Amino acid sequence: MNSLLNTLEKIEKKRLQVDRHRVIKMVAISKYTDKESIKELYSCGQRAFGESKVQDLAEKNEELKELPIEWHFIGRLQTNKINHLLKVKPTLIHSIDSLTLAYELDKRASDVKGGIDVLLQVNSAYEESKAGFLPEALQEGYLEIKSECKNLNLKGLMSIGAHSEDSAVIEKSFKITHNLFETLQKDGATILSMGMSGDWDIALENGSNMLRLGSILFS
Ligand SMILES: *Cc1c(COP(=O)(O)O)cnc(C)c1O
Repeated sequence: MNSLLNTLEKIEKKRLQVDRHRVIKMVAISKYTDKESIKELYSCGQRAFGESKVQDLAEKNEELKELPIEWHFIGRLQTNKINHLLKVKPTLIHSIDSLTLAYELDKRASDVKGGIDVLLQVNSAYEESKAGFLPEALQEGYLEIKSECKNLNLKGLMSIGAHSEDSAVIEKSFKITHNLFETLQKDGATILSMGMSGDWDIALENGSNMLRLGSILFS
């Protein structure tokens, strides 16, 4: 479990450098691993875990149902998997990538007490392989979902950093998302989910308060 402790130490060190008042949450992305490694991290105090496939999330939730794990969904959500996902009662869905998906989820969530917490995914790197709202369309989409989708609690934004070796390019994509997030804070956005194993430090420098870390923890 040195990888967890080492990583938390590094995050804390960076946090103190960039903004000692910011509260940062780390979601352990368990998509590469099995229930034994999840249990191990759990026993060290980690409570938030994330998966990118509904099937995997449902299976791990079932296998580990004795533990009060907080599950996050971070992957592409097909509309025919929504009901399956809702059964797991995810704590947060990070990856609402279109108005169509938002409306569909809102419809299926009508009997979920208190509604479902969600983030909108922004394709701030403008990469075709990535899902998400383009930055130009994000604010309008956010406000529309906020006013029309009463069963969704919009909590903020999620983004995947640019796929690049050049940290300036990655930083640029994070800055775009951060600017959008700042604009939306007056509309209740509090979560900015950015940063993976390879770019979490750049994400923290650019306003992230939720990291999604997989390989760095489980390898
Ligand atoms: C897999 C994945 C992660 C974690 O990736 P690592 O580079 O292994 O830390 C984070 N976010 C999303 C959306 C992912 O699909």
